[in-house]
Amino acid sequence: MKKTSFSLKKDKYKAARGGHSRLLNVCCRKCESVVVVYQKDGPGNLRRLYLDRIFEPVEMAGLQALNIKDVPVLKCKKCSAALGTPYIYIKEKRKAFRLYKDSVTKRLNLI
Ligand SMILES: [Zn+2]
Repeated sequence: MKKTSFSLKKDKYKAARGGHSRLLNVCCRKCESVVVVYQKDGPGNLRRLYLDRIFEPVEMAGLQALNIKDVPVLKCKKCSAALGTPYIYIKEKRKAFRLYKDSVTKRLNLI
């Protein structure tokens, strides 16, 4: 496996959730392939994926620049399972995917 190094983002969103952040491999529950590498800030379950926290794949990391209407539904590239819908998390006016229930699993990404 290729070695990639990421530096975790530190900003007001991270600050709002307390100090701890982890890098996760978010995987399709159906076929177990990695869908995105994601920075999770703070405790709790993964219910949404903020676009500005997606590190990989590169084309998805660029989605945050798009208008939310132009962001495609989150799908598994391998098995095409639909995993989540793009929307704006109003409280923070932040673009995100709302994950469907039990659509993904998460694993710690050990850099
Ligand atoms: Zn899949």
